[in-house]
Amino acid sequence: MSKFERYKKKVEPYIYPHKHCKQCGEMITEAYTYCPECYKKLEEKKKRKLFKRKKN
Ligand SMILES: [Zn+2]
Repeated sequence: MSKFERYKKKVEPYIYPHKHCKQCGEMITEAYTYCPECYKKLEEKKKRKLFKRKKN
C-alpha cells in the first residue's frame, strides 16, 4: 500500500457562503436578499401598486 492512499481526502459537500431570505428564511446566495419566490411576490406587489396608481 502506498502512502498516498492513506491521505485520500474525504469528499465533503462544500457549503458556499450563504444568507437566508429575509421573507421566508430560505437558503440563498450572498448576492441576494430574498429567494426567487419572494422576489416574484415582491415584483407582483410592485405591479399592483403601479396598477393602482394608473387607476387613480
Ligand atoms: Zn423567500
